[in-house]
Amino acid sequence: MEEKQKERKMAGFDFRKEAEGLLDFIDKSPTVFHTVANAAAMLDAAGFCRLAESGHWELSAGKKYYVTRNGSSLIAFTIPGGEIGPFRLFCSHNDSPTFKVKVNAELEGGKAYTKLNVEQYGGALRAPWFDRPLSVAGRVLVQNGTAIETKLICIDRDLLMIPSVAIHMNRDANEGASYNVQNDMCPVFGDADAKGGWKKLIAQETGVDEEQVLDMDLFLYNRQHGTFVGLNEEYLAAPRLDDLQCMYGSLRGFLEADAKSGIPVYCAFDNEETGSVSRQGAASTFLHDVLVRICAASGGVQEDYLRAVAGSFMISGDNAHAVHPNHPEKADPVNRPQMNQGVVVKFNANQKYTSDARSGAVLRMLCARAGVPCQNYTNRSDMAGGSTLGNISNTQVSLQAVDIGMPQLAMHSSCEMAGAKDTAYLAALAKEFFEAKLVVTDEEIRIS
Ligand code: ZN
Repeated sequence: MEEKQKERKMAGFDFRKEAEGLLDFIDKSPTVFHTVANAAAMLDAAGFCRLAESGHWELSAGKKYYVTRNGSSLIAFTIPGGEIGPFRLFCSHNDSPTFKVKVNAELEGGKAYTKLNVEQYGGALRAPWFDRPLSVAGRVLVQNGTAIETKLICIDRDLLMIPSVAIHMNRDANEGASYNVQNDMCPVFGDADAKGGWKKLIAQETGVDEEQVLDMDLFLYNRQHGTFVGLNEEYLAAPRLDDLQCMYGSLRGFLEADAKSGIPVYCAFDNEETGSVSRQGAASTFLHDVLVRICAASGGVQEDYLRAVAGSFMISGDNAHAVHPNHPEKADPVNRPQMNQGVVVKFNANQKYTSDARSGAVLRMLCARAGVPCQNYTNRSDMAGGSTLGNISNTQVSLQAVDIGMPQLAMHSSCEMAGAKDTAYLAALAKEFFEAKLVVTDEEIRIS
């Protein structure tokens, strides 16, 4: 084991550096649009060519490519040997629960305040958004002559706050509170004089005139910077660890991999938190379209595409629940993931997860080859649990697949907790996966 750890450090996956890299990535990525821009910058720096879905694709063996859809989902791939498949896919999601600022954003509050009108995005835990500095980030669509341009903005200052009702005015506050988004979650933007200031601020932050601002997709974000916690700094506290830990860790493994065969594919999908049903989510045609075009551009026909897919394998990475320090009873009696103890394979009899004995076996063998510890997750049998993108993606491109994640706490809070070692474990697994020669068909499974 110790030898293996040294090897991972030699391969560039130093535990501390990968954790710091993740925190930096999260800090720079307050919204899904920023995650794609930052991942694209990492791919650009590694020599990947950017493709447009609307362009003509000419692909060459030995080259590396990526393509985005809606500026919020991204697929990258390499063609190491010029073969048409099999595909080895590592998918995660890059969106996180938050609150979206509505059009006509300003609201009057108590005749003394100007508030922002928001609606919830995804399954957020609401309480952790109270009583902390917040700000706004996202994309602004601006008119430039006859063109409409997209600008990413992140207002980098403490701008907003959602104040709690004081305990004196709500004596039941500690006995199980419920929060109504329309009534309770709209943040204070300023005093009564702030009325009319919202669009001005957005124009100013975008660097354009107010009349040029046509529309915007803006979201609240927590101003808390990611940090190490615990006596030995063994944990991370940061926003959006679900699922940027998987998005970033798998990208690190993808970029470090020296694949010799097959077609490694890296995917980050938007809109998992709302069910993946969108033009760019895992339920869309995005992955299918990209894989078909890779085959076609390599001279393949539909027969080649279908054969490639039949022998392909997908790892769907979305964070898992670690056993909770105060509520261990919420976990299954024996399948209880712990942070810093490696990759979690997620199983569910009702197919919320793709994992089964075949794909679980493949994942365990890959982990062993990489020297990465491996744990298991199942829900308690009397709890429904969550779902993720693996099986949803499989309705468009049906692949043998396994669902995994890194163990974490406080999932869907505005600040979550994860293991400081686990990003390096995930990167090491992803690298091994992309480099291994994997034969996975109904007839045969072989990893060499
Ligand atoms: Zn997730």
